[in-house]
Amino acid sequence: MVFMNTSLRVVGLLSAVILLFSPFAFADHAWGSYHWARTANPFTLKMGDNLTSNWDPYLATAAADWSVSTVLDVTVVASGKNAKTCRPTPGRGEVCNAKYGSTGWVGIAQIWVSGSHITQGVVKMNDTYFSKAFYNTPAWKNLVMCQEIGHLFGLNHQDESTTNANLGTCMDYTSNPGANQHPNQHDYDMLETIYAHLDTTTTLQQSSANKPQANAVESDDPREWGREIRRSSDGRASLFERDFGNGEKVFTHVFWADEGVRSLSGRLRE
Ligand SMILES: [Zn+2]
Ligand SMILES: [Zn+2]
Repeated sequence: MVFMNTSLRVVGLLSAVILLFSPFAFADHAWGSYHWARTANPFTLKMGDNLTSNWDPYLATAAADWSVSTVLDVTVVASGKNAKTCRPTPGRGEVCNAKYGSTGWVGIAQIWVSGSHITQGVVKMNDTYFSKAFYNTPAWKNLVMCQEIGHLFGLNHQDESTTNANLGTCMDYTSNPGANQHPNQHDYDMLETIYAHLDTTTTLQQSSANKPQANAVESDDPREWGREIRRSSDGRASLFERDFGNGEKVFTHVFWADEGVRSLSGRLRE
């Protein structure tokens, strides 16, 4: 695979063309059968807090919102990662914010899987965009934080059009985040479906540390994300997959910045 900006653009164009011929249906609201292995419900997923204090209330809100689910609870735990690299910890999520630069993305969620089981996850919030007037609002911060954390459970978006009516969930893309800051009942129903069965093992963090997954990824570098397997028609949402073989993969959900904000960033960088 050739890692060049031009080839990424070509891949983007090709994806757009392919989408015309094979439109994806998002009705099932999961992007696969991926889930955390656990032996009982409700299970507790820890989120390592690597946030600056201004972001803490948003993580607290998202953790409380998702914990309304009957199948899972989210606990925020202290963590000490370098927020720029935000390396994963086996068996839990890590949540980071930093000025990652004019990357084009506002937020990303990365999920490592082994077979159908999620083993670790990372959420990054890009302050390069959240410091701009357009995204520097509680509503956008709630929406993106809530959505990226939702991806760590195995949820996909409910809708990826920014021009239709809001569905009242953070898993819905929108041009006005006002009504889309929290999960809705459909998200909780979907979680019950994903987590209806129990496993005989767990991929959740145990008292003795889980075996680290070998495949590290410099996660804010798109060249490390692998293949773009899906892009929404207006280009605001992407899903990348990198396949390490033997059932080991990392998925990257990308929340691209509004085109106007993105091109402004490009100009500011020059
Ligand atoms: Zn399972
Ligand atoms: Zn997303």
